[in-house]
Amino acid sequence: MLDLAIIGGGPAGLTAGLYSTRGGLKNVVMFEMGMPGGQITGSSEIENYPGQGQVMTGMDLMASWPEQCQKFGLKHEMAQVETIIQTGSTFKILTNDNREFEARSVLMATGSVPRRAGFKGEDEFFGRGVSTCATCDGFFYRGKEVAVIGGGDSALEEAYYLSKMCSKVYLVHRRDTYRAAPSTIEHIKKTENIEEVTNVSVEEVFGDASGVTGLKVKCNKTGEIRDLPTPGVFVFVGRNVLNAPLKQSDGSFLCDLSATGEVVVDLKMRTSVKGLWAAGDIRIDAAKQVVCAAADGATAAVDIIEYLG
Ligand code: NAP
Repeated sequence: MLDLAIIGGGPAGLTAGLYSTRGGLKNVVMFEMGMPGGQITGSSEIENYPGQGQVMTGMDLMASWPEQCQKFGLKHEMAQVETIIQTGSTFKILTNDNREFEARSVLMATGSVPRRAGFKGEDEFFGRGVSTCATCDGFFYRGKEVAVIGGGDSALEEAYYLSKMCSKVYLVHRRDTYRAAPSTIEHIKKTENIEEVTNVSVEEVFGDASGVTGLKVKCNKTGEIRDLPTPGVFVFVGRNVLNAPLKQSDGSFLCDLSATGEVVVDLKMRTSVKGLWAAGDIRIDAAKQVVCAAADGATAAVDIIEYLG
């Protein structure tokens, strides 16, 4: 029987792993299918993690976190959790490789995945010119033109990153104001090889057997159509939370969710179900910052230790 099962190995899950094991829990397992670190490892430049003055990649920021947790006894299971089932006062954790674990408490820290924008050709060319990760795929477009779609922090930060290796970046946004931090917007405005293509709808991404050859956009005011001649299209239009492990066989969810699928929690990260906590981007009102996810994980772990006595 596990004391605590942590579902997800991003900043929230890893910090909960650190605090719970260092706080005395003996049998704590973190379930993470891929490499621990979370979605932030796909970010190219982090400049707002407190105490880390120099700009660094998400991969570099997270590199030492797993080892620090393992030092205190956190175990890592490389498996995807398919379902969490409540059985009396404990929980069953079912994994995609048909294993079953039992836990006295569970922390959901699964975060989110990139959302698709829904334009024509997006699915067809995904992985063949359409990408949601500039650090992973930017290299393929060195010296070439690319388009970035979106108007939030992710789109603007990644557009800026791509501008350093690509000949030109079209920043394509459906409105003429951005949601990103003012300092990031300033970087964009000052960068000569970024062209802002605002107030447009993406009509389609087109190409041939070799991949993407361009992006068709339509001006929202005039209806004018423009083709952007780019072999790379990066989509950053927000994220969807990963709440699937909470879904039960009858279609209901194990605990209360918001209308958009985030887990409802209180200030201690407790969900509506006793013994179940949620932390990081999966929870309601998450600020979606690494430092906040880490803080959530610590808050939950402190409460879990008290709960287990
Ligand atoms: P976001 O803030 O939700 O922005 C998504 C952008 O995509 C918006 O500009 C939105 O347009 C646009 N969009 C949404 N659906 C679209 C569609 N179907 N077609 C075209 N455009 C579409 O998402 P995000 O940038 O991924 O950021 C998520 C959260 O993480 C935010 O809270 C952000 O602050 C945070 N974040 C922080 C940092 C940092 O602090 N360094 C870095 C990255 C992310 P509208 O504006 O018109 O709605």
